[in-house]
Amino acid sequence: MFPPELAEQTDTAPWVSKASPYPGDRSMITGVMDDDISKIMPVRHLIVVLGDQLDRDSAAFDGIDLRRDVVWMCEAREESTRVPVSRPRIAMFLAAMRHFRDELQAEGLRLIYRSLDARCPSLAAALRVDIERLAPARVVVVEPGEWHLREAIRELGSTVELRADRHFLCSHETFAKHAKGRKQLRMEFFYREMRRAHGVLLDAEGEPEGGEWNYDALNRKSFGRDGPSKLTMPAPRAFRPDALTRQVIAEVNAEFADHPGALADFDWPVTRKQALAALTDFIEHRLAAFGDHQDAMWSGEPWLFHSRIAAAMNLKLLRPLEVVRAAEREYRAGRAPLAAVEGFIRQVLGWREYVRGVYWLHMPGYLERNALGASEPLPAFFWTGETPMRCLADCVGQTLRYGYAHHIQRLMVTGLFCLMLGVDPREVHRWYLAVYVDAVEWVELPNTLGMSQYADGGVMASKPYVATGRYIERMSNYCGSCRYDPTKAVGDKACPFTTLYWDFLRRHELTLRANPRMGLQLRNLERLSAAERKAIQAQAETLRASLRTRSPT
Ligand code: FAD
Ligand code: SF4
Repeated sequence: MFPPELAEQTDTAPWVSKASPYPGDRSMITGVMDDDISKIMPVRHLIVVLGDQLDRDSAAFDGIDLRRDVVWMCEAREESTRVPVSRPRIAMFLAAMRHFRDELQAEGLRLIYRSLDARCPSLAAALRVDIERLAPARVVVVEPGEWHLREAIRELGSTVELRADRHFLCSHETFAKHAKGRKQLRMEFFYREMRRAHGVLLDAEGEPEGGEWNYDALNRKSFGRDGPSKLTMPAPRAFRPDALTRQVIAEVNAEFADHPGALADFDWPVTRKQALAALTDFIEHRLAAFGDHQDAMWSGEPWLFHSRIAAAMNLKLLRPLEVVRAAEREYRAGRAPLAAVEGFIRQVLGWREYVRGVYWLHMPGYLERNALGASEPLPAFFWTGETPMRCLADCVGQTLRYGYAHHIQRLMVTGLFCLMLGVDPREVHRWYLAVYVDAVEWVELPNTLGMSQYADGGVMASKPYVATGRYIERMSNYCGSCRYDPTKAVGDKACPFTTLYWDFLRRHELTLRANPRMGLQLRNLERLSAAERKAIQAQAETLRASLRTRSPT
């Protein structure tokens, strides 16, 4: 089927037309304008490369015939406009895609690249048009990282060959086998299986290095009063935009002027070469202190000891096993402590693969889950960072500026606030998917809807992660400059986190009673008098009413 809005714009049936079906299109076929597809006919395989599959070793290229096959890429505008995707995220994807396109061209591959100018209605619709025009014997696609896109591509017909994404270390089948018969999934057990399966951090007997699987108890310190020392925390390597990235930045600023976020500080790695340099920089300069400060936060310090490689891995500029092996090598060479290396490897080999398994096991229904019946709108300040709450102003502010926040900022500041306020999990999901440079649905959704919002009722997390403002006070310096007091739940100076914490326990008391892991928190709730509960409820309701302006999603 040809999209009706495009059919109207062409004189002849598009599948026999040699002209581009997209007016104003500056898309390219092997470096020339798409004005004559006969130059590439006939096409044996149309090899589709999605925006997060930028790896020349991808299964998509297996068996490629350089003379008869054509690579197809598309900058689908709807990917950025379904929700107002932030400018850093759009620029990250476009810059990486265009660099990859140029690498393929330099290698002499035949390529159709549908750029933003083509104004393709959607990726699947654009692909359908080109399949009809080119009539390839086969359309080769590596499985997308989003359930709905996979379905849309499957619907393109029997010529489509979906290949498994070997970038991941656990296949759907292996994860399903792991999940089979288990009443409850837990990352820790999955992680041990992954360590054994891939021979990571094992001793000569095949047992966990150092005798323990997990050294979390030694990690996760705060910085203390003085904060992180600039001497021991070198700034991560920055990648100044080259001409191509600068062009992308200008285009994004012009085309998506009303989208949130800024690009003045854009310095992400956008090629495999840069991504490898970013990995080396992390391994050499920050890995050794990663574990200690994994959960700590400090205002104006977005990176701390984190790796900044999630986007590169998710776009497939880096391979997870090379990341894991690089970290393990550092431990074996005696340059990084076991606790730091194990803590980092657990994130990549454990959490990253685990959330992907959960996503594919539970989609498509997972997207609709709302176990706590949350229905509040997302507060408007999530799109501006303008709030007197210092922790949220800092975390949202850096998110819009860089497209980045580290795990605890996402889980225990922005996520925690939404959970306790009772924001509709679909709105929370749309925000996280829109604002981070590393956001792709397979990893974002289980983290947001499951781990941070408990909307899946306990698939990802064994209990809701809730805490008062005291947690943020302990792990950061945000509260010191805030007009609120994290110890207070009611009154003018009451910290909204502390108010909402008690109100969350009060509102969900009955449901949470079934969960033994919530016992201690509920016993503390019982100590509150009826008058205290009433005052907390009133304060929480006033807060909710004041934040109830629907956000632009
Ligand atoms: P580091 O802190 O240096 O960690 C190293 C690597 O481990 C990361 O690059 C990442 O690949 C992996 N990792 C760590 N934690 C997780 C996790 N919970 N799940 C999967 N992988 C993990 N990560 C994404 O890649 N994309 C997302 O869209 C995303 N959305 C999130 C939403 C919420 C609500 C939460 C709580 C977490 C989310 N995460 C997401 C996980 C994590 O926050 C980011 O991977 C991390 O902050 C990226 O920064 P970094 O590369 O400096 O990671
Ligand atoms: Fe955030 Fe409350 Fe601390 Fe203010 S007092 S920074 S709102 S936790």
